[in-house]
Amino acid sequence: MSRRVVITGGASGIGARMAERFAAEGDRVAVCDADATAVAGFAAANPGIRAEAVDVRDEAAMDAFLARIEADWGGADVVCANAGTGGPAGRIETLAFQDWRDCIAVNLDGAYLTCRWAARVMRAAGSGLIVLTSSTSGQWGHPNRSPYAAAKWGIIGLMKTLAMELGPAGVRVNAICPGAVEGPRMERMLKNQAAASGKDPEVIRREYASGTSLKTWVTADDVADTVLWLASPGASKISGQAIAIDGHTETNSA
Ligand code: NAD
Repeated sequence: MSRRVVITGGASGIGARMAERFAAEGDRVAVCDADATAVAGFAAANPGIRAEAVDVRDEAAMDAFLARIEADWGGADVVCANAGTGGPAGRIETLAFQDWRDCIAVNLDGAYLTCRWAARVMRAAGSGLIVLTSSTSGQWGHPNRSPYAAAKWGIIGLMKTLAMELGPAGVRVNAICPGAVEGPRMERMLKNQAAASGKDPEVIRREYASGTSLKTWVTADDVADTVLWLASPGASKISGQAIAIDGHTETNSA
């Protein structure tokens, strides 16, 4: 049966790949993203996927986006609170308070506004899956990325709590914790971290891989594979879990 899938931050990177993979399975998919240009490009490449320019920090815009989906589809079976931003790089004493706030807002306020709606419609339906995108930074901490690590650690606390609140209603809630994912976002992050630390970006790239048992970065498809499995019958008893897709991080010192 075709599932109804909603993905935030879905116009590029991991979210876009998840959206494309669900759509390829015949599911109805809607994404939102704050980057209107990325939304236009994604919509042109994926005419079967519903795509809207919405900022997850904007309560009124998010409520309206989700209300349109509810009116058209009657609810959702899978909701991925995926929108996130890497935030500023640097030691905490060098960071601007506004940059801290922006990072927390995109990652945590966005997840709150998304999950608030998902909880209501899924509780009423008596079924559903929420997947929140955390990070290995949310399991390990991350030097020079304190706002990001704090936000992603908060995502895991939100996930655990929602799994408890919604489990009795038949709704599963999990978090995914990708390691370093190949793509434009990490290329930008390598540049920022190099500027903050004085290291060569290629050295940082190798440090990310060398901190994992499998000595690897991961791909957006690796992440999408896990989310599709979570949405499959084989994962029907999996809830409250923070699942790393990272080649097994041993140290997060990059
Ligand atoms: P990305 O930059 O390619 O995609 C993130 C998308 O979110 C972008 O399209 C961006 O426009 C959108 N977005 C940003 N702020 C938004 C907002 N306020 N409202 C709505 N959309 C917004 O990055 P990605 O790697 O695909 O990241 C997706 C998620 O995965 C994020 O939560 C990120 O923190 C997490 N993550 C990424 C990595 C990695 O290595 N790339 C590792 C661990 C976790």
